[in-house]
Amino acid sequence: MIKIPQEFDTVAYFSMEIGLESDMRTYSGGLGVLAGDTLRTFADLNINAVGVTQINSKGYNRQVLDENGNQIDSPDEWNPEDFLERLPETTTVKIEGEDVKIGVWRREIESPEGFTVPILFLDTDLEENKERFRDITSRLYGDDRRYRLSQEIVLGIGGARILDELGYNIDKYHMNESHSSLLSLELLKKQDMDREKVKDLCVFTTHTPEGSAHDEFSYGLVEEVLGDFVSISELKELSQEESLHMSLLALNLSGYSNAVSKRHGEVSKQMFPEYSIDSITNGVHPPTWVSESFAEVYDEWVPGWRSDPYKLKHAVGIPEEEIWEAHLSEKEKLIDAVNNNSEVEMNDRVFTIGFARRAAPYKRADLIFQDTDRLVQIAKEKGDFQVIFAGKAHPQGEKSKEMIGRVTGHIRELKDDIKMTYLQGYDMDWGALLTAGVDLWLNTPERGREACGTSGMKAACNGVPQLSTLDGWWIEGHLEDVTGWKIGLEPEETPENAYQTDSKDLYEKLEEYIMPCFYADRKKWVRIMRNAIAFNASYYHTHRMVGEYLVNAYT
Ligand SMILES: *Cc1c(COP(=O)(O)O)cnc(C)c1O
Repeated sequence: MIKIPQEFDTVAYFSMEIGLESDMRTYSGGLGVLAGDTLRTFADLNINAVGVTQINSKGYNRQVLDENGNQIDSPDEWNPEDFLERLPETTTVKIEGEDVKIGVWRREIESPEGFTVPILFLDTDLEENKERFRDITSRLYGDDRRYRLSQEIVLGIGGARILDELGYNIDKYHMNESHSSLLSLELLKKQDMDREKVKDLCVFTTHTPEGSAHDEFSYGLVEEVLGDFVSISELKELSQEESLHMSLLALNLSGYSNAVSKRHGEVSKQMFPEYSIDSITNGVHPPTWVSESFAEVYDEWVPGWRSDPYKLKHAVGIPEEEIWEAHLSEKEKLIDAVNNNSEVEMNDRVFTIGFARRAAPYKRADLIFQDTDRLVQIAKEKGDFQVIFAGKAHPQGEKSKEMIGRVTGHIRELKDDIKMTYLQGYDMDWGALLTAGVDLWLNTPERGREACGTSGMKAACNGVPQLSTLDGWWIEGHLEDVTGWKIGLEPEETPENAYQTDSKDLYEKLEEYIMPCFYADRKKWVRIMRNAIAFNASYYHTHRMVGEYLVNAYT
């Protein structure tokens, strides 16, 4: 195991969402899945840590697609009692001038060696609370500003207080995205408003290059909801004049801040030029994302890969047949699951492309449909292929819903020529099946807009190569024709009409390189699969990532 001396007592890891199990609906996507992988890795590496999040008892959004392929939303309830233990301790915060009591649930992650990391889930659904406060912690990313600010008071201020209540001695508070920034204000008050002392305690990770995705609240609302917790004039100094900007607050009160890939680091520095922002590229937790078939192969050829995933570089020595056999067995599982969950009848001998991610417009799920004639032509001339899509839109995300509508429309329009489907309810289980079972992982974000992306790393854990625009982690993990392929220009080049140039290049890559290689040069194909493991799975893992946090952020 990688041993790094721990020079701090305990780190508290705050995240609005944490994905621990697929059916515990406490997560919406990448941010939560990363948080879960990080906490599992803390346990693996014997790091004293505690996770803090909210209960999200009504989940994020249960997605159903109607017969026209339009998303229908409903709450995604789950039963905390099936997964968590209720603790007797409580704490209170003030919201709109009233006391709101917060209860807490706990779950422990246990490493194979028996080291545990507890995770605390805050819950305001208590009888003592006024009706309007009882569902503050139930819905992840509610759109209403007042509701969101109330949630962030519970997470940041309530979270810090519950740790005190439970007797934790925390000397690093890690804010995984700015939803927990108010915790820095709670610490500021405890430290007699000494900002330098708070900076010693706080670490901040920013996760999005999208300006509009950074939380902001008007001072009018702050005054109503948070009251005079900290004076508005001081808040303006700690954030900005126009509004309470949660990322600026976190940047001003953290001794260390980072972005989540090298490229995202550069973009973040442009967004916040007055701050020093480091970068630590995300990773995934291999024992969680390596499929059963590949785990068996690694156990035989790369013993010790679970506790030291750097060893996966030794995948270069795995015989090609074993890689291919393991892949075929995962592909069969996926195609069975897809056929059981949709009308389409897919075939596990056909080249299969996977695209699963939030339906955010910048991710361009519809890029592959820019020229549908050409797409059909490729299927006729280069061999069959099939495409599996998945991904939810935020309930208020009209543009994302339109994206799903467009993609499902194209799927229907081309149904006699190319087998394609849009799965309902993308979650961690589907994420694991898809990233292990497809032949090619497709990723098409607009340049500069993907902070990192982690699903391609899960694919690499299972020997699935990626075809992607050069953005996020792919700028670092891409070796053309070795670990996968790029779409379009170099990251620093800005194409005139990106939709057109990128889609053209996507078709060309499929026609000229990828499909011929898959169908006519299987030996080379399997070598690329093996390279994805040896070069990328061996490096883009949370053991490396947590090591970087230990050295750069926590000490
Ligand atoms: C891994 C994962 C993500 C994040 O993947 P991206 O590449 O960042 O889109 C999102 N949702 C689920 C369910 C996942 O498993």
